[in-house]
Formats: sequence, C-alpha cells, structure tokens
Amino acid sequence: MSWLTDYVRPKIRTLLGQRPDIPENLWSQCLSCEQMVFTKELEKNLRVCTHCGHHMRGTALERLAWTFDEDGFTRIELPKAPADPLSFRDQKRYSERLREARAKTGLEDALVVAHGTIAGQHAVVAAMEFGFMGGSMGAAVGEGILAAARLAVLQEAPLIVFTASGGARMQEGAVSLMQMPRTTIAAMLLKEAALPFIVVLTDPTTGGVTASFAMLGDIQIAEPGALIGFAGARVIEQTVRETLPDGFQRAEYLHEHGIVDMVVRRTEMRETLARLIGLLRPHVAQVPAAAEEPLAVVETV
Ligand SMILES: [Zn+2]
Repeated sequence: MSWLTDYVRPKIRTLLGQRPDIPENLWSQCLSCEQMVFTKELEKNLRVCTHCGHHMRGTALERLAWTFDEDGFTRIELPKAPADPLSFRDQKRYSERLREARAKTGLEDALVVAHGTIAGQHAVVAAMEFGFMGGSMGAAVGEGILAAARLAVLQEAPLIVFTASGGARMQEGAVSLMQMPRTTIAAMLLKEAALPFIVVLTDPTTGGVTASFAMLGDIQIAEPGALIGFAGARVIEQTVRETLPDGFQRAEYLHEHGIVDMVVRRTEMRETLARLIGLLRPHVAQVPAAAEEPLAVVETV
C-alpha cells in the first residue's frame, strides 16, 4: 500500500498537474452523435449540434433570447399561486423541492412570460422551464399561462408558447389537474379576441400539458426530434399489446400524421414566427401603439 500511496499516486498527480488547465465547460458532448462541440460554437448555433443537427434542450430564458429581437424583451411578474396547497410530502417535502428548484433555476416556477418584438412585430412569449421540476404544471404555471393570455389581449399581440413539460405536477394533485381547463380558457381568451395563438412544442412535451393548451394553438410547430405525447410509449405498448412504429411520438412522425403543422429548425424559428405573425395579422402596423403595462415588470433585458 505504501508504495502505491506514497510513490505512484503523487507521480500520477504530478503528471496530471503538469497538463495545462482546461476550463471545464470549454467543450460539450452531443447526446445524439457523441461528438465534441466547442461550447461557444454551440451557443452561437442556439444549442443545435454543429455535426448532426441534434436540438439540445434550452432553458426558458434562452428561449426568450432566441425568439425576441436583439434589442431585448421585458419580463413580467406572474401572479403568486398558493404554495404547497396539499402540504404534500414524498421522500421530500414539496416546499423543499420548490426551494431547491428556485435556487437551481433562479425562477419562481416553471414558466416565464415576456413581451417584446419579433422582427419588429409586437408579441407575448411564454416559455416553460424543464429544469424546474421537469417543467411540471401546477397552479403557478396555470396562472402564468392565463396571465400571458391576458397580457396578449391587453396589448392586442399574438401569444407564442414554448412548451417543455413532463405533465401535471403530482405534488399538487387535483389542483394541478384543474390547470388543464384553466389553460384551455387562456386559449379561448385569445380566440375571442381574434389574436393568433402559436404553440412551439419542444423536447419533451408530455402528459397534462399535451392534453391541454399545448394542442390548442392556431398553428402547431415542433422542433426537430422533439418527444411529444400524452402517455409514455412503454405504457401504450403494454396497454395495446402492439409494437409501436419507429419514431413514434417524435415531431416528424406527428407531422406526417397531421398532429403538428410544421417542424421548424431552431435556427429558423424566429424568422418563421415573424412570417406567421405577419400572415395572421397583415392589417397590424409593424410598430404597436404604446400598450399599458398590466403587471409589474421584473426586468428588462
Ligand atoms: Zn450531434
């Protein structure tokens, strides 16, 4: 033991120590093709692999930055939802899980809402944060989607929602399920005001989110390769006792079968959204009338 610990280990340390310091996050590995990509290059390419085109997951704040024009956007404060309505506890208390998720993401819950311009056209964008408890939908997300729809109506702007969610938040039980009809009402508000509602399904969008507002867009867009479905493939296979086809529940498969209107690469998303808004609202001037701020401003980026 002494020879190993006293001689070999320090020797290895010295050998390793002599190597130049490499910053930890200089390179990122693509989960699809397993090739290494220069992180800066990857970020410049909106987290799409430069080798194989695989779309890596982005955060809600990255979504906002990728979607709005360079001159930035204004985030709004979302209504507070009752915290831990059931005093739920599994291995951990729900309140503790919330605290951890808030510390990890810097967000209040799994949704951010902002307004700004997309190619000069005013729009409200809501983006889900998968990193916040799997993007699960509880009362806060439901309130947030409603707030986004109300903001769009007030500003007479289209609403674009980027989904990324594992579904309902089980720690809120029936309260979480109630968000399905509530977010459906949000979609109705836009319809009544004759404003476009565009949904961009990103990887992954499943469960109660798929079963509510995520499928109610006037136009349904998906990112390449995104997993979109209600129940998991294994559960379906066990229920119907049949082998599911290749690519089942993937964006391209859903596009072929008419569930999704278009599959759009992330690098072309901003211009596609701008084109769609222009087509859906040809009578609206490029620059909007100064809309009143209905809610407190969190920050202007
Ligand atoms: Zn790749």
